[in-house]
Amino acid sequence: MNISKIRQDFPILNKKVRGKSYVYFDNGATSQTPKSVIDRMSYYYENENANVHRGVHYLSQIATDAMEAARERIRKYINASSIEEVIFTKGTTESINLVAHSFGKAFIGEGDEIIVSEMEHHANIVPWQMMCEERGAILKVAKINDDGSLNIDSFKSLLNSNVKLIAIAHTSNVMGIINPIEELIEIAHNENIPILIDGAQAVPHTKVDVQDLDCDFYVFSAHKMYGPMGVGILFGKKEYLEKMPPYQSGGEMIKDVSFEKTTFNELPFKFEAGTPMVADIIGLAEAIDYLEDIGLDKIQDYEHKLLEYGTKKLLEIEELRIIGTNENKASVISFIIDGIHHYDAGSLLDQMGVAVRTGNHCAQPLMKRMNINGTIRASFAFYNTYEEIDILVSAVKKVKEMLL
Ligand code: PMP
Repeated sequence: MNISKIRQDFPILNKKVRGKSYVYFDNGATSQTPKSVIDRMSYYYENENANVHRGVHYLSQIATDAMEAARERIRKYINASSIEEVIFTKGTTESINLVAHSFGKAFIGEGDEIIVSEMEHHANIVPWQMMCEERGAILKVAKINDDGSLNIDSFKSLLNSNVKLIAIAHTSNVMGIINPIEELIEIAHNENIPILIDGAQAVPHTKVDVQDLDCDFYVFSAHKMYGPMGVGILFGKKEYLEKMPPYQSGGEMIKDVSFEKTTFNELPFKFEAGTPMVADIIGLAEAIDYLEDIGLDKIQDYEHKLLEYGTKKLLEIEELRIIGTNENKASVISFIIDGIHHYDAGSLLDQMGVAVRTGNHCAQPLMKRMNINGTIRASFAFYNTYEEIDILVSAVKKVKEMLL
């Protein structure tokens, strides 16, 4: 991979911050956007913009065709068996809320159980918790090991006939730990339990084939995989989606409306009330083209090398401890430095031209489990370099000198 050429594709990476080049290591929060994606969305607004699925006029048909072509592109990318299983949402959070609400209404009752794990993002905890409260169901939590990996025995011990759904991260946003989802899906299915995979932190780094995985739901956000903000995907197996009631209601999701009774549109439109984010959906398809042009295998391979290099270099710093030491990881390093508050470190790193994430990363239960109040997280993308990691490492050393 020619990284300096790749960096030219991302206008923001070549901007100066406070007169200096800036090291962007907050890719886990949001990734940067290549020019081809930005251009595609501008092209839409300059040439194709109209409301979709509604007008008979030329522009409306062009916009509808472009959006539906994007749906097909995304379907193919994740290998869903039909476009009926590919629902546009505004992000991972909304996808999970949709399932919690609609699956909850269709399938969850008093005394039923939902399983999550200790490493989940709040987006994969709170919607389930609220749904459980509403429906008199119980949220159960699978434990993790000290190295951040899921404790499979704990996971298995929670399974019983009351469990109606499992919701688990593919990759932890805090630690980068990759869960053995193939194994978890098989275990769940042996007990006839459907399983939702939160893929927000996995899709930027790895190819996902939902048929191969055989997961029942898979959710992710475009803005973490080099696409725009404001669009996400809910993949769901048709057998479930068909039985689930609409999440929101209004235009687009209906077949017939009268004051006596409304009937609903077919899949996927049943779950897409209102005007969709057409430009962003098309932008996501463009981002997928961009990623596939480079090659997910090459991306994964290079990012793994960055991870190994960064881990080795950071661990040379005394008093620095990495949270999540299991080897099966995406290119994310969360660390703490004894005696230094993560917020102070993050602010100083920013002053030195390095963008990292600090805090609890929307995973307060994980912080509690690890007995910490936050971490400093560096998350690498394929446009990052070894030199940038060196800059991070020397900046962390300076932070230590200044604060300890
Ligand atoms: N799950 C995980 C694992 C995440 O990392 C994130 C984003 N930080 C989310 C869910 C929520 O994604 P979004 O904010 O795009 O809805």
